[in-house]
Amino acid sequence: MAFENESNIRQEICRFGTMLHEHNFVAATDGNISVRLDQNLVLCTPTSVCKGMMRPEDLVLVDMQGKPQDGNRNPSSELGMHLLYYSLRPEIRAVVHAHPPTATGFAAAGLALEEPLVAEVVITFGKIPLARYGMPGSTELGEALKPLMMEHDAILMAQHGVVTCGHTLLKAYLNMECVEHYAKIVMVARQLGSPQALSPENVRRLMEAREHYEGNKPRSRKDWEQ
Ligand SMILES: [Zn+2]
Repeated sequence: MAFENESNIRQEICRFGTMLHEHNFVAATDGNISVRLDQNLVLCTPTSVCKGMMRPEDLVLVDMQGKPQDGNRNPSSELGMHLLYYSLRPEIRAVVHAHPPTATGFAAAGLALEEPLVAEVVITFGKIPLARYGMPGSTELGEALKPLMMEHDAILMAQHGVVTCGHTLLKAYLNMECVEHYAKIVMVARQLGSPQALSPENVRRLMEAREHYEGNKPRSRKDWEQ
């Protein structure tokens, strides 16, 4: 193995794959997960495998151009958007993509989750924007995501699903969970008929708090970020 803790990371990716599946964030072979190991290597989930049934040896080591470095399987066809996040944001260590039904429902309806309805969601994400449609795995989708990735740790993709990132795999996974939970809350508020957005002044104060929120910051910087 190329890295001292690579076998732990492989197990962690499988564990979070099982969680994605058990929480119904993915069905069948949907979704993908990756972790950046160093400046030039990324460990990612293979194509056409149920994320709830992966074995550590199924994962594929690729370089930053997406070229497989070992393993018998092919990387996810959606690896490109993971690599795009890593190339734009050196502090990012993990990316998760899934199709959680409620948040994906918003994406399918052409609706972003940008209205400030819940205080802690503003602190965690600011806004959750919607990227315009691009064929999965295409450069067209990359172009749609690129301007949003610099500012956002969670993005809805029109007629497709959700992509989240984090400075740890746990954080990237939890961001996915928060997006889906928030989508459910927004749907209920809309069903009740009168969602009450936070005032601009309250949003400003929350955005200020967001600047200092520890949960959004990397805990340690790695060599390749310096
Ligand atoms: Zn997808």
